[in-house]
Amino acid sequence: MTVIVVGAGIAGLACAREILDAGIPVRVIERAPGVGGRLASVRIDGRIADIGAAYVTADDPAFLGRLQSWRIAGLARPWTDSFRGQHGPGPMRWSAPGGLRSLAEDLAGELEITLGAEVTGLPRADAVVLAMPGPEALRIADLAPAREQSWLPSLAVVLTYGKRVWTDFHGAFVNDHPIVATIVDDGDRRGDRAPVLVAHATPEFAPSGDGAKLAAAVGEILGIGETPRVDAFPWPYATPAPGPAGFARAGNVYLCGDAFGKPRVQTAWLSGRAVARSIISER
Ligand SMILES: Cc1cc2nc3c(=O)[nH]c(=O)nc-3n(C[C@H](O)[C@H](O)[C@H](O)COP(=O)(O)OP(=O)(O)OC[C@H]3O[C@@H](n4cnc5c(N)ncnc54)[C@H](O)[C@@H]3O)c2cc1C
Repeated sequence: MTVIVVGAGIAGLACAREILDAGIPVRVIERAPGVGGRLASVRIDGRIADIGAAYVTADDPAFLGRLQSWRIAGLARPWTDSFRGQHGPGPMRWSAPGGLRSLAEDLAGELEITLGAEVTGLPRADAVVLAMPGPEALRIADLAPAREQSWLPSLAVVLTYGKRVWTDFHGAFVNDHPIVATIVDDGDRRGDRAPVLVAHATPEFAPSGDGAKLAAAVGEILGIGETPRVDAFPWPYATPAPGPAGFARAGNVYLCGDAFGKPRVQTAWLSGRAVARSIISER
């Protein structure tokens, strides 16, 4: 049996790992030069900052077990259950000292992955898994469930200051703001106390791509006078509308990712694993 997984985000990696662990050969193809997808970290002046998912939460026992394994390996740590602007008690948010992408890199170990290779048509295999946002899957195959998904964009900025000039906080939901959706203290999240904030724009503002304006809005909200270095990263497909849990299938083609449930890392992991179990059960 041959299985090809397209997309090395957390869904594709979880899927491929489960398939490999069942003794079935699997190949992963990823268009980016590295793994992780929206579980994304970049290196700016030698320091890693998280620009996609801000943190990971778990209420599924299996995924919580996954996080605990990463904690024991020193890759993840419980960070905070307290964000400014949250309504009521929040869940425990987990962060990664080496950047959240390091969790994807850990899953990728031992897998056969081809990086920097964009798939433009359906590969030949007994099973093909498209582990990506529906609109991106549509460039590969015309799948009805992919057409039904709807997505919102985001824009992330990494703001690097000369020193920490704000009152300590972990992160903030900026409710009802036209430009800013969230601000996270990346130095607090990563644990190195670097003077770095990461902000995400609202879906309405994101298409402008205006990182400087987003940075200025963050400065106004937190009362910071200094103009930071700004590195901006657009996310055309950031957040899907929540859909039914699991995955979609058309013949030997599977679609999985965070659109199958509440959009978050846990959902993508569960969706990828569910596809793997379906493939394994039919071998
Ligand atoms: C700004 C932002 C903030 C977020 N905050 C949080 C948060 O705080 N907590 C949380 O739990 N979740 C958060 N999320 C959501 C979380 O990042 C996602 O749920 C999760 O990472 C999705 O994983 P995935 O594998 O389904 O998709 P992706 O990570 O999008 O992976 C898809 C992969 O497929 C690849 N690909 C696409 N097309 C092709 C092709 N044609 N050929 C080859 N490869 C292809 C892509 O390059 C990508 O690597 C956030 C997301 C964003 C963007």
